[in-house]
Amino acid sequence: MSALNLPAEGGCRCGKVRLKVSAKPLLTMACHCTGCQSMSSSAYSLSVAIPSDGFEVTRGEPVIGGLHGSMSHHYFCPHCMTWMFTRTEGMEFFVNLRPTMLDDASWFTPFIETWTREKLAFAETGAKRSYEALPEMAAYEGLIKEYMGSQA
Ligand SMILES: [Zn+2]
Ligand SMILES: [Zn+2]
Repeated sequence: MSALNLPAEGGCRCGKVRLKVSAKPLLTMACHCTGCQSMSSSAYSLSVAIPSDGFEVTRGEPVIGGLHGSMSHHYFCPHCMTWMFTRTEGMEFFVNLRPTMLDDASWFTPFIETWTREKLAFAETGAKRSYEALPEMAAYEGLIKEYMGSQA
């Protein structure tokens, strides 16, 4: 498994929003839920959890999209409408970045996959751990340790 080289820069499809990552990822994920299928226009979404203090929007003003719900805040480029990253209410210590926003996403593989009970029959991600829904909250600490330990 290859690791993300830091600092890493990235941006949306049109380049009006740019961002920078300067902290090691906590966990990588693929999500098969039907909400992610809709928002990604694809079989599943990809996420890399980055500590919030190591994540910065360096250009542009992302806007809220998706369901505009109170739990998850999905940020999009206001011009090209790329779904860029997600912040979760009550979990402000990390940001879930779509790894394909990074200029180099070749290092990415999903460590866990979630909501496999909603997945399209063909969709395989190669993730190490699969969950029918989400892992228990208490499991994340161990998953983060295991993932970070695998990124020498
Ligand atoms: Zn854009
Ligand atoms: Zn999802």
